[in-house]
Amino acid sequence: MRENMLVLEMLLKNQLITRSDIMECIPEVERSENSILDVLLNNRIISQEQLKQILHHEGGFDIYDPQKDKMDKKALQFFSKEQAWENLVFPLNQPDEEKLVILMADPTHEEMVRSLQRISNKRLKILVTEKDSIQELIQKHYHDNSLENEKATEKKSGQKGEASPEPSIITLVNQLIEEGVSQGASDIHIEAFPKKIQVRFRIDGILRLAKLLDRRTFQGLVSRLKILGGCDIAEHRLPQDGAFTTDYEGRQIDVRLSIMPTIHGEKIVLRLLDEKKFFVSMADLGFSTEQKSLLAEIMEAPHGMLLAAGPTGSGKSTTLYSLLNGLDPQTQNIITIEDPVEYQMADINQIQVNEKTGLNFATGLRAILRQDPNVIMVGEIRDEETAEIAIRAAITGHFVLSTIHTNNAIASITRLMDMKIPLYLLSTALRGVISQKLIKRLCPNCKRKALATETEKRLLNITNRDVDLFYPVGCSLCHGTGYRGRIAVQEVLKITRKIREAIAKGAGYDEIRKIALEEGLKPIEDSLKRHLFLGNTSLSEGLEILTFENDWHH
Ligand SMILES: [Zn+2]
Repeated sequence: MRENMLVLEMLLKNQLITRSDIMECIPEVERSENSILDVLLNNRIISQEQLKQILHHEGGFDIYDPQKDKMDKKALQFFSKEQAWENLVFPLNQPDEEKLVILMADPTHEEMVRSLQRISNKRLKILVTEKDSIQELIQKHYHDNSLENEKATEKKSGQKGEASPEPSIITLVNQLIEEGVSQGASDIHIEAFPKKIQVRFRIDGILRLAKLLDRRTFQGLVSRLKILGGCDIAEHRLPQDGAFTTDYEGRQIDVRLSIMPTIHGEKIVLRLLDEKKFFVSMADLGFSTEQKSLLAEIMEAPHGMLLAAGPTGSGKSTTLYSLLNGLDPQTQNIITIEDPVEYQMADINQIQVNEKTGLNFATGLRAILRQDPNVIMVGEIRDEETAEIAIRAAITGHFVLSTIHTNNAIASITRLMDMKIPLYLLSTALRGVISQKLIKRLCPNCKRKALATETEKRLLNITNRDVDLFYPVGCSLCHGTGYRGRIAVQEVLKITRKIREAIAKGAGYDEIRKIALEEGLKPIEDSLKRHLFLGNTSLSEGLEILTFENDWHH
């Protein structure tokens, strides 16, 4: 991207930046594809809000107000998706024949504006808004039509020859899934009540009303989803499960469908398993450099066991998938047994637990051991039988990864002791434990920095110095919540010789924890503090970890 000096001059003139700020950005500009303006924004030397205000006061541009400035899909035709991305422009509406209202993040880029004028052949009225909002709008409204057609039906499992529902219902279902995926929803709930049919999305763990539907479309919608999921469309009184696969922006989305008859009609929950979400890199998971090298050391062992601990929904399986993804499936036989298989990985044999046929973790694991495996992932250690087989596998030449539902790394060890695993087996098998929790990430666009109060400092065990913390505010990008997305906080415990000896003699929680800390364990509180001071999350979000972690271990 060519540098646009005009906006930089405006910022200089208003003393929002200095010439040395610009100079300091240069190395990063040269390293990355970003412009100076991008770097200034990314490094928070100026905020999006300041930029908008400057463009408004100095440049005379109006600021985009989603409440007031309505969008009209017809305007999308003026630019292709590629043109919109390239120029970071979003065509909003067309107030009359001659005029086109567009959104831009940097409207002072005259060359770009002229080129947009040529492409659209209209007089342009520019409203300014954040770059992120423009990108989100483009993502949301420019479909590549992949879901509009019948692709989803063709991919479903079986059930051909059903009467196909009206095209409008097909489009409605596709749109719902597409909107859910584009907004990062993990689940879509479709619910019938006497006066309304509501659709809610679970985003970042919280359910939000997404839209209300016309009651007349409901039955068609239910039937369409049943067909897609391979369910019995004539059955209305029993719960049913199903699954289908669809595409979004070239990636596979697995949809798991659950139908439950309620007194007002069938309630449908669609769980969206988006491969993009699973393939977060280790960098995105928030491991520190030190933790990453500890994990690498643990994974280097030819056999043994690595556990990921944490409550439900703490991203444990994502972490294990990322670790598996770092292995070479060509030279190693990697087998997983999961309930459910959350993400399909290339070149890895994945087995789905099926209680109905008697294929549970224990029986599956026994069968896997006869398949000459190198690395085995067991979805979860829930019972003594599974724990024991997994641990025996780990001491007989296999590397075993699994998750366990405990609150921290040391508690996982004592939980396994409680499961009557012989201590000599446990101490020999265990290589390491990751304990992980997900907490809300502050919205980077609106978070506010301020000095920590005395109470806050006491919670953080800081007495003799001032520290800055970050606080939620709320803006259009985060739906006014002040938070967007989540981050993981973790501790990585590597089982050292001293810890192994303590396990072998059956030491209790407190003793093992004391030894682990002496051996260099950085507890999860440290990981949280790092994120607090980096401004990734707020103290109120991390409070539970700070206050409960020390007292809670069973
Ligand atoms: Zn925000």
